Amino acid sequence: DGAPLGSTVISLVNKLQDIFSRVGSQSTIDLPQVAVVGCQSSGKSSVLEALVGRDFLPRGNDICTRRPLVLQLVHIPPSKPESAEFLHLPGRTFHDFSQIRAEIQAETDREAGGNKGVSDKQIRLKIFSPNVLDITLVDLPGITKVPVGDQPSDIESRIRTMIMSYIKVPTCLILAVTPANSDLANSDALQMAGNADPDGHRTIGVITKLDIMDRGTDARNLLLGKVIPLRLGYVGVVNRSQEDILTNRSIKDALVAEEKFFRSHPIYSGLADSCGVPQLAKKLNKILAQHIKAVLPGLKARISASLVNLAKEHASYGEITESKACAGQGALILNILSKYSDAFTSIVEGKNEAMS
Ligand code: GDP
Ligand code: MG
Repeated sequence: DGAPLGSTVISLVNKLQDIFSRVGSQSTIDLPQVAVVGCQSSGKSSVLEALVGRDFLPRGNDICTRRPLVLQLVHIPPSKPESAEFLHLPGRTFHDFSQIRAEIQAETDREAGGNKGVSDKQIRLKIFSPNVLDITLVDLPGITKVPVGDQPSDIESRIRTMIMSYIKVPTCLILAVTPANSDLANSDALQMAGNADPDGHRTIGVITKLDIMDRGTDARNLLLGKVIPLRLGYVGVVNRSQEDILTNRSIKDALVAEEKFFRSHPIYSGLADSCGVPQLAKKLNKILAQHIKAVLPGLKARISASLVNLAKEHASYGEITESKACAGQGALILNILSKYSDAFTSIVEGKNEAMS
């Protein structure tokens, strides 16, 4: 499904994102990402973890995700071992995924304190694995209503603002996560996603906890888009339960159990296209590749524009900033941007040629 073009574009975009965040200007160019939105404990971190296929995210009954975690997944050949790097720990490579979780928790505490505090300062983690698609995922704190611990009284609006700052970006794909054992028609996730993306061009509905719905109820109509229609549709999933977490059930076991659950279910077995983490991964990859192809010309124009600006700045302040440490960095970015601009141009032109 267009994998070669998609993966080239996505890896270029990932490199650019890294460069911008390294020089502290994350918002210079709006790059495509996938972010999760939903209430606390709706299963956002569980969904992301299942997509990555490894255990490494803090998750549980309580508030676990307290800072935005930007997860850059990088596909590597199967011969190479999985590894991970944090932007805040340059030069250090992680191979043990439980240590990654410990570092996420420690780094969360460093910024947001140990008592349920929330901060909008990102943690950036890169995971190199043969088992992932090349995409960038953002795990976000969940919508919460009642302040606990060190949380300020306006915690709900703060978290909503933080979530909104990610999902309002026109290039951000939104996973709107709603637990099946809640009032589906009043989903906060779908409401927020609807505000950020009124046309529904970039929202995928994810229904979690299908295994613990009330007896006699099911999410069939929701999954089929008959309750709240979504252009990109819905995927239902079954993640590990709190008991599974406590007994250290592996992700692999959980995926097998999930498949069995859907295959043997009287209703969901007929909705194979919209059930299961593997279906979600497939859907995401396809949408992401199409999406990036569509935004590429605009992205290229913005890169060119910022290049022109940088060049102007460089010309007028070149002498003065020479002495400052940032001058070399500015020239470097300029250089790198020219390189990427060329790369994007050739991809765009290649695509145009292929289509004409
Ligand atoms: P987040 O706060 O939205 O990131 O939610 P988490 O991923 O941390 O999950 C919250 C709790 O719900 C944990 O105890 C999970 O084990 C549990 N959970 C998540 N998804 C499911 C699911 O599909 N089925 C069941 N039974 N439990 C789930
Ligand atoms: Mg979480």
